[in-house]
Amino acid sequence: MSNNAKILIVEDEPAIRTGLVDVFVYHGYDVDFAETGTLGLEKALSGSYDLLLLDVMLPGIDGFEICNQVREQSRDQAIIMLTAKGTDEDVIKGLSLGADDYVSKPFSVAQLVLRVQAVLRRSINESPSNETIILDANTAIDCLNMSGNANGKTLAFTRREIDLLQYLEANSHRPVSRDELLSKVWGYADDLDLETRTVDIHIAKLRRKIETNSATPEFLVTVRGAGYKLICADNNIG
Ligand code: CA
Repeated sequence: MSNNAKILIVEDEPAIRTGLVDVFVYHGYDVDFAETGTLGLEKALSGSYDLLLLDVMLPGIDGFEICNQVREQSRDQAIIMLTAKGTDEDVIKGLSLGADDYVSKPFSVAQLVLRVQAVLRRSINESPSNETIILDANTAIDCLNMSGNANGKTLAFTRREIDLLQYLEANSHRPVSRDELLSKVWGYADDLDLETRTVDIHIAKLRRKIETNSATPEFLVTVRGAGYKLICADNNIG
């Protein structure tokens, strides 16, 4: 875990922005900030930050638009959205646009720091799993290039989506719980005790990409009371 990671904070409210800058400087990060969406977008597109912390509501260009444009340029960039409390649509929209995670305002600073540390940690699989995940004859995922194919449709994935698929594939003999995914794919400490919809929304996004009908998934299935399970073609081999 690099403590000299560079963070860009895009937040228009001066008190919150100053507070965030102070906290992350205190924790040893290199911190830059922007107070408008326009400046934030310009800086974010420079690609020189390890993590972007994007407020949703900004004058001019909002946090969604920044997230969207950054994702078009890089599927690796770590992004956390700051959403207003009680705005579920914002959470879903932010994650659908490719954010790694979100934190709802008002947030606890200690928890935000833990989430940032977790998202920055390149958690994932001790042992690298397959470079290609074959779900069936018409559906395959190329993990190296973060791309795929489903029934002739070309797919693009974010780094986090690929991490999630690889973890499920490496454990495809059993269902994996939401808590385990938060711990292994997002890097959250087991005792963080999070109330978050990040996992479910990422699963929903993946289903829309890989399933013929995301309402009746064949590959990324829910095992009631246990978690999620990936059904791959090679489940049955050997
Ligand atoms: Ca704002």
